[in-house]
Order: sequence, then structure tokens, then C-alpha cells
Amino acid sequence: MTDTTEPVSARRRRSRDQLLAVLAEHDAVSRADLSRLTGLSRSAVGACVASLLADGLVSEGAALSGASGRGRKAHVVRLRSVSGVVAGIDFGHSHITAAAATATGEILAECSEELDVDGRPTQALDAASSLVGRALAEAGHELDDVLGIAAGIPGPLDVRTQTVRAPTILSDWVGLDPADELSRRLGQPVAVGNDADMGARGERAYGAGQGLDDFLYIKASHGIGAGIVLGGRTYRGSTGIAGEIGHTQLPGATSWCRCGSRGCLETVVSLTQVRRQLIHVLKTGPASGPMAVPPLSELEPDSAAARVITDAGRTVGRVLADLVNCLNPAAIILGGELGTAGRPLVLGVRESVDRYAQPAGAQAVSVRSGRLGSRAELFGALATAVRQRSAVSAAADSGRLG
Ligand SMILES: [Zn+2]
Repeated sequence: MTDTTEPVSARRRRSRDQLLAVLAEHDAVSRADLSRLTGLSRSAVGACVASLLADGLVSEGAALSGASGRGRKAHVVRLRSVSGVVAGIDFGHSHITAAAATATGEILAECSEELDVDGRPTQALDAASSLVGRALAEAGHELDDVLGIAAGIPGPLDVRTQTVRAPTILSDWVGLDPADELSRRLGQPVAVGNDADMGARGERAYGAGQGLDDFLYIKASHGIGAGIVLGGRTYRGSTGIAGEIGHTQLPGATSWCRCGSRGCLETVVSLTQVRRQLIHVLKTGPASGPMAVPPLSELEPDSAAARVITDAGRTVGRVLADLVNCLNPAAIILGGELGTAGRPLVLGVRESVDRYAQPAGAQAVSVRSGRLGSRAELFGALATAVRQRSAVSAAADSGRLG
């Protein structure tokens, strides 16, 4: 199982992350169970637990429940209960959500605001800072209690400079260093990443990606982006724009895209486009009247509306089939607001992957809905914030987010 070509520091960090993810999910776990749940050897678990104990991130002691009966009492490892909290921020294109959570990822308070994030970066950053303050206050905490803060932004960050660089996606943010801007406003270090990467982290820590080291998380919303997890790490490419699948050209599509190109996936399957099609089919249905699109999770299976979603899934799946050929992931996790449609979307993606990917790759990949809905990005920011403290000590050997 161990890849001997991987540098020791990276391997150790990955093992630590695996242990932290398991501990975040379970209250208390014995070393034997840690080994079983992570697939790490007993000695690797021992080394990791020692380093986490040294960093004060976990504690080890007797199991709390006294029901063990005969035999010796099991010792268990648990995340150290700390009085501090973490904060996470999710920037959408037109909303910001901030949450305060415990170090085990339980949300204590959450605040949101509608705002033109794309066009008003300064206001968005100001609003995010005050939302963090509000969420913390609602949870009965102050900024001084915070162990870590992380944020996801809806565009690519240059991994070399941590600035927003792609002029076609978040143009008004170009040249900004969101981590620096947020850190200045909050007086604390803030880790920042791309929203799809955050979604992948959220699902991996708390949702449908638990236990997976190689998968694609698709944030299908107003834009479409992929969080790519390879070998247990988020892959962002040489400059940070890996996963911008929304700008893949579709044969025959001709609409202009916000990126300046024509016929991008996003021009066919954005949330706006899908809603437009849904309004059309819902209007022609038997219960016509003033039309608001219901939440996608509530669409009737086998209805015309569900077929619209399945068709959107086929289109996204056509692009994902190529990624399956390239990357051979174990799973495709469908997130974002379109992901909340569930089964109809999964069916469409599955169909295209089966049709266009190589059979061996198609058979290996499970297509599933995210479990965290449109909050995966927020949970990913929280998972990153939880790890930020351990990341500080490990920052020397890898990037800011790891
Ligand atoms: Zn485009």
C-alpha cells in the first residue's frame, strides 16, 4: 500500500491527515481501529499518533464507556477537545457564508449574505470578515479563540503567488491575495483555496469522499469546476488552474462564455441554463401557474424535469469521461447546486462515462452525489481550518493548503 517513491515528509503528512479525518468522524478510536480504518500499518499509526500527541492535537486515554466488561480496558485516541473554535468561509459568485465550528467540524453558527462577489471583491472581503465575527459571536466566541480560519473562493488561485490570476474567471479579483486580505482584516492567518478543491476536502472529511484517495469532486453550480484529489492530495497543477472543466469546448455548442471563448460546458449546463430549461418544462406540465423552480432535490423522479437534469448530466459526463481516461479516479462526486438533484444527475453522468470512457476506467469509477449538498465547500473550509494548526507545523514541507 505504501508508495516508496513518495517523499517521507509527504507520506507522513498524508498519514496524519488520514488519522485526523478518521478521528474527526469518530469520537474515539483505538490504535488497532485507526490502523483498520486508514489502512496504515500499526507502526505508521504509532508514529503518527506520537507526532499528533506532541503537537497537542490528540489525546489518548481509557475509553469513556465502562461497558467493556472483562479484559483490559481499551485505550482510545481522540481529537483533543479544545475550547477554541475554527471558522470557515465559502465565497460563491453571489453569496458569502461563514460558519463557526468546533475542532471536530460540528457547526455552531452560520451566517450568510447575498452579494456580487465577482464584481465587488473589496466589499466581499469586508463582508466575509464581518460574517466571521458574527458567526463567532453567535457561537459565543471571539476571534482570539480561533484555532484556524480557511476560505474557498470561486476561481483559481495561482499556487506560486497565492493571488488570483486567471483574468477570464474572477476578473475583478485579479492581482488580489485573498489570504493576505482576509488575514489583515481578521488579524489571523487565513488559508485560502479554490472552491471546488474545498468541496472535495469537505466531502472527503465529512461526506461521500471519506476513505477515498483518488476522486473527482464536481462543483456544478453557476460555474462548473472540478476538485481533483490524487494520492490523497488536492491536485492544482503547475499554476493552480487544474480542474477548470467548465471551459471545455463542447462540439456543436456556440454560445459565448464569460471566459471569452465559445461553446464551453458552462454555457450549456450552468445552473442558470438548467433552471431556464426547467421553467420551460414545468410550465408545460399539468400544474401550470406562476413558476418558481423547486429545489432540485425535490424534483419528481421520471418527470420531464428529472429528464432535463439527466440530460445535463450526460453533457457533463461527456467531459468527465475524458478525465476518467486520464486520471482513473475511484469516484466522481457530484456537488454544487446541480449535484443536489441527486439520482437524475448521477444517471446522466454514469451513462456518458460508460459510453465514452475506456471500459476499465468506467468500471473502476463510482458516480455518486455529494452528501453535503451545497455546503460541501463550507465544510471543506472548516476541515482545512481544523487542519490549519497542524498545517502550520508541517508548512515547511508543502504548500499553504497541503
Ligand atoms: Zn468558458
